[in-house]
Amino acid sequence: MDIESELGNSIERSADICPSSLDPADWERFRTLAHSALDQAIDFVRTVRERPVWQPMPEHVRAALDQPLPTEPQDLESVYHDFKDLILPYTVGNIHPRFFGWVHGAGLASGILSETLAAALNANCGGRDHVGLYLERRVIEWCKAIFNFPARASGILLSGSSMANLIGLAVARDAARASHPGEELVAYASTEVHSSVGKAMHFLGFEDQALRKIRVDGDFRMDTGALTLALDQERAAGRRPFCIVGTAGTVNTGAFDDLETVASICESQGIWFHVDGAFGALAVLAGDLRPRVSGIERADSLAFDFHKWMHVPYDAGCLLVRDGDKHRQAFSSSPVPAYLTRAGRGLAGGGEWPSDLGPELSRGFRALKIWFAMREHGVRRFGDAISRNCRHARYLAGLLASVPDVEVLNPVSLNIVCFRFRPAGLNGAALDSLNEDIAADLQESGIAAPSTTRIQGRLAIRVNITNHRTCEADLDLLVRTAERLLDEKALPHAS
Ligand SMILES: *Cc1c(COP(=O)(O)O)cnc(C)c1O
Repeated sequence: MDIESELGNSIERSADICPSSLDPADWERFRTLAHSALDQAIDFVRTVRERPVWQPMPEHVRAALDQPLPTEPQDLESVYHDFKDLILPYTVGNIHPRFFGWVHGAGLASGILSETLAAALNANCGGRDHVGLYLERRVIEWCKAIFNFPARASGILLSGSSMANLIGLAVARDAARASHPGEELVAYASTEVHSSVGKAMHFLGFEDQALRKIRVDGDFRMDTGALTLALDQERAAGRRPFCIVGTAGTVNTGAFDDLETVASICESQGIWFHVDGAFGALAVLAGDLRPRVSGIERADSLAFDFHKWMHVPYDAGCLLVRDGDKHRQAFSSSPVPAYLTRAGRGLAGGGEWPSDLGPELSRGFRALKIWFAMREHGVRRFGDAISRNCRHARYLAGLLASVPDVEVLNPVSLNIVCFRFRPAGLNGAALDSLNEDIAADLQESGIAAPSTTRIQGRLAIRVNITNHRTCEADLDLLVRTAERLLDEKALPHAS
């Protein structure tokens, strides 16, 4: 059998051998459209400053999207046309340098490339012997190097830190059940812990009160004295503390729990140490912030995102587990079903499959966009961008210090500034609703998009700076616009 010529023949004939496939009937027409879409995507990113950060979707656009189930084929050109009119202008806005809400990554121009190429490959990275798995393993090894994890550590790419927190806690729970069967398990985190941790506990079958929330100090860090006390009381009551979640970068204020102290408590008491480092963990890449993250290398499991402070296109998160065997025990199925049998050679080989380390079987090629991003920029450059964001947060706090009737509500220790206007004559709920209004006015102006939160009960305009495109002039404009919006409110003046 001449395999070479068989392959050659099938290429020759592929155009007419299967005319009913879903491929384009006219590849050249497809190419023309694809090139122009690519140009448009590049321009979209390049000219982001020229557009509003965000705009609400007009009623007619929503109505136009409200289409019935397509049963018949439509021209790709017309689908793309709708994309340009109905979708492109109304995205969340996080690539814009004045998007300051929540914690969003800003994306990378090269993400257009890596995502397009990944779509062309359409690799299923749940398992089997192919480059997708080797690349994911390489990325995981790089992450172990970033966080100084041991060789025996394992890791998996996930949709984000919500999933990574869930998987990390699942491994912790299974490990605790194996060594302390039948005991009532409880976990700990600070009152500033992200809601995904509570959700994870819920999915894992725990009652709400099984996640104990420890109070924070004036810097919004877990009070480790209170933690120690609570652990003692729990034991005295016959329950088993099985996991402590430390946060590296809280979503409200960017606070870091004292990871060294929590790690020591966990080590001495045989408790699993999970770190939620969704965005803050990558501060390890920034020379000036590195001490903040100290102790993270002692975590039993670590959740963090590439799509936040590394700007890899959504979605891309990661879980590292110090003891890879415990990770495998939690997720590899045994016995392996016949249809997923591993082989010593051929496609069913390839060593460990990611599906042994998480709940998903089919999964996309997330490693490709991360590999592109890390190689293009090098982790040092991401670290520099993180430092710059934090410098800009301090710059903003400085600007706000000179604005009358403004108070900053958090210690600006990282990249987040929570502030509120406090004009004389207003307090309580009226003050809250004034600031809520100004935040919404800012968003609707298209000039800047902060979000809001509550800091010690007070409503705050929250400015999160995780965008590599943000510069000082953007913060000047934010403050100028907020002041103008306040002036337009014609509040009752005290004078
Ligand atoms: C964003 C965030 C999460 C959730 O991560 P996703 O990637 O959005 O799922 C969890 N914890 C913290 C501290 C976060 O900032």
